[in-house]
Amino acid sequence: RDLIAQIPHLTGSGERVTDEEISFDPFEFERRQAARLEIADGVGCGGDEIIRVVVTRATMDKLAPRIRPGEDVRPEAVYEDLPILEVDPLEAFEVSERDVLITVADGVKLPSITAFRLLAQKLKDKGCPNPILLKDCLNFEGTPLSPDEALLRASVAVGSLLCDGIGDAVLIRGESGAGQSLRLAFNILQAAGCRSFKTDYVACPSCGRTLFDLQEVTARIKARTEHLKGVKIAIMGCIVNGPGEMADADFGYVGGAPGKINLYVGKTPVRFNIPEAEAVESLVDLIREHDKWVEPQPAEA
Ligand code: SF4
Repeated sequence: RDLIAQIPHLTGSGERVTDEEISFDPFEFERRQAARLEIADGVGCGGDEIIRVVVTRATMDKLAPRIRPGEDVRPEAVYEDLPILEVDPLEAFEVSERDVLITVADGVKLPSITAFRLLAQKLKDKGCPNPILLKDCLNFEGTPLSPDEALLRASVAVGSLLCDGIGDAVLIRGESGAGQSLRLAFNILQAAGCRSFKTDYVACPSCGRTLFDLQEVTARIKARTEHLKGVKIAIMGCIVNGPGEMADADFGYVGGAPGKINLYVGKTPVRFNIPEAEAVESLVDLIREHDKWVEPQPAEA
């Protein structure tokens, strides 16, 4: 319900959902080809680079004292320092340089998704391969959004565009907390499959077939594995439907029988009927066996 409540804000009130057949295959993905350029010291954007996280100067000033060496979740460039061209895609515009990012100017009277799709199409028509900086919002309301609203709107707007293959860097401003907006940017990139900075979990919703306490077991697995970057773990309540729903998980923890767990590597079952009390450690052992395990860093004093 909360998600649906954001739709008028994201699409423009009164928009009617068309029932016409769509002209493209929504299951095909191709990233928009963009030229590579450097947006900060040693930080490339576009080309084959990962999608970058940009913050405003004000956010950077708040975050800088808190960034620890080696931390993955950190800003990669400051908006005010970028080589950037802001345009209104509703108007005619020229791109005279190849070495600039392009974004939609604040205040454009379009929802973000529409504005950036239009921008991408116009750049394509002009043959401009400049990378695109995505923004979660172009217009700001008088009162700050609640964290839930900011999260939902940014996820829908930026996530949709990333799934379209549009975007080489992201800037999140709907969430006013500095640390929260940075974390949200990385979470959206991870959820869209663009970057991986933490463990990914896929869990079934549970039903009458579930053979263990899904929430309690998920919490225990997370506590043991959430420091593993780039590992995807599926936690499924039963072997009837679980293995088919594990998507592209690297490892699976699946209820095999009451009190017994089967473990998977990809879609292949490799360990069977492990007593539930031993299954989480057996999963850790399996991850280690496949060279995906690292010891967690001790917490700072
Ligand atoms: S995977 Fe099994 S337990 Fe989980 S929701 Fe599907 S049928 Fe139910």
